[in-house]
Amino acid sequence: MSILAKNVTKIYGKQKALDNVSFEIKKSEIVGFLGPNGAGKSTMMKIITGYIPPTSGIVEVNGLNIFEHSLEIKRQIGYLPEQNPLYYEMYVKEFLEFIAKLYGIKNVHQRVKEMIDICGLEIEQHKKIKALSKGYKQRVGLAQALIHNPSVLILDEPTSGLDPNQLEEIRQLIKHLGKDKTVMLSTHIMQEVEAVCNKVIIIHRGKIVASDSIQNIKQISSSTKIIIEFSIALSEKHFSHLPIKNLEQLSPSRWKMESDHPDISKELMQIALKNNCTILNLSKEELKLEEIFKALTQSQIPN
Ligand code: ADP
Ligand code: MG
Repeated sequence: MSILAKNVTKIYGKQKALDNVSFEIKKSEIVGFLGPNGAGKSTMMKIITGYIPPTSGIVEVNGLNIFEHSLEIKRQIGYLPEQNPLYYEMYVKEFLEFIAKLYGIKNVHQRVKEMIDICGLEIEQHKKIKALSKGYKQRVGLAQALIHNPSVLILDEPTSGLDPNQLEEIRQLIKHLGKDKTVMLSTHIMQEVEAVCNKVIIIHRGKIVASDSIQNIKQISSSTKIIIEFSIALSEKHFSHLPIKNLEQLSPSRWKMESDHPDISKELMQIALKNNCTILNLSKEELKLEEIFKALTQSQIPN
């Protein structure tokens, strides 16, 4: 297990930012940590990286407890904080050399050159950080997070504030960098998770509300809402053999139901045939990923 959180609670004064949070992230997974603003994403990431302690609970990174091995863990984790704090007066190359020295990297020049190459910073390497676009500042942030070749990457909203082109470039870069690493990436955008991650953990008001593979979450999302109108009145028993849930009678001949069965339309036609009636109207509405996210995180905390 790369990251293990068990019953983690964090209370700031009177505010419970994390409420008994538990999850596991396996080696080499790219996990989206999804939730609306104020959900507790940054708080959880600061705890994993050892910047703040939890009020209670256990966190392990690569099998090491964060309290007992905080220095060793900092060596194994690369962290891009939400505000991406960089030294704006420093030059890109100078900054990366400074960080490399902090980590005690032996061949500083060689490693900085590699990071400049991997993060696509060649043309900007001689500029001052303050002169860079937001997208290039994020690249520098990623380079500093990766310079000591950590096995775990914690990226807090790495694409927020980027324009659509920069966004795409940074997503591709994260995917590429994440190939042989464990990546936990926070975002409040559902599409981002779909584009980059293979697993998603959804947090809302400090509680985990879903944790699954994108594939499984999508399967929930393939559930379809159906409204059907027959030419005659039917009763509930006519539907009792169908793979449906939440059956609701809207009028004697109109029914609402949900199903994730691919052949549900055919089954409904069979009912019409058997009962010697016709289907006057059938509408289907798919639950999209975005709706699932909304349904799970409906009541937002006011910021
Ligand atoms: P997210 O990153 O998901 O937007 P945060 O982890 O930053 O959420 O915040 C979770 C909750 O904890 C929010 O309600 C926020 O206002 C509160 N919070 C965060 N940091 C502090 C702090 N240092 N002191 C008091 N409350 C805080
Ligand atoms: Mg945050």
